[in-house]
Amino acid sequence: MLSVAIDGPAGVGKSTVSKLLAKKLNWNCLDTGALYRAIAVACKNNNVDITEINQVKDLLNKIKIDVKFIDGVQHTYINNKDVSNELRTEEIDMMSSISSAYPEVRQSILHLQRDLANQQNLVVEGRDITSNVLKESKNKFYLDASPEERAKRRYNERNSKGEIANYNEIYQDLLKRDKNDMTRKIAPLVCTKDSIKIDTTFLSIDEVVEKIYKNIKLS
Ligand code: C5P
Repeated sequence: MLSVAIDGPAGVGKSTVSKLLAKKLNWNCLDTGALYRAIAVACKNNNVDITEINQVKDLLNKIKIDVKFIDGVQHTYINNKDVSNELRTEEIDMMSSISSAYPEVRQSILHLQRDLANQQNLVVEGRDITSNVLKESKNKFYLDASPEERAKRRYNERNSKGEIANYNEIYQDLLKRDKNDMTRKIAPLVCTKDSIKIDTTFLSIDEVVEKIYKNIKLS
């Protein structure tokens, strides 16, 4: 099976770019952040203190995270309940960034990610796809943009959905998440030597998709 592995920091536009790229290739797209977010939602719904590893570990024994692609759209499940609509809140942004540092959390969804990539051609986006989950992929990309630009994009995204957004809060949260994701001991966000790095600060979404598409090896 073929894969395209895309990593990069929060708010860089990975999800949007990856979905468009997958559409162009007629493949599915796996947003691995959704899996970490689903675990954070399970913690929240079960009153688990995310800073207490033992509580999180107990919960991991009781939940099964799963993914289905329906008409090209990813649906994410906790114990067979579709939680896709509960994943994208500011609270879950921060909770998932904390719990994703636990090795047990990462291990609990590693096989799922690899199984999905073994079953079909897949665009996979996250933080440790190029460095860990799909180390053998022939197509590796790292998307980057300045924190100010990423915060601006997040702010505009939330605004356009009619949510009340505060640029400064978003900016500070992004810096915190960058620090969590880049400095954790297990599978930190890094740009691997064999990844093509794309600075998207001054590029449109379509230009980024095109840049990746042109560099993909399909054989
Ligand atoms: O990409 P997204 O912002 O949805 O990811 C939510 C959180 O999940 C990130 O802040 C990161 O801590 C974690 N994550 C990860 N490894 C991945 C994908 C996401 O640690 N492959």
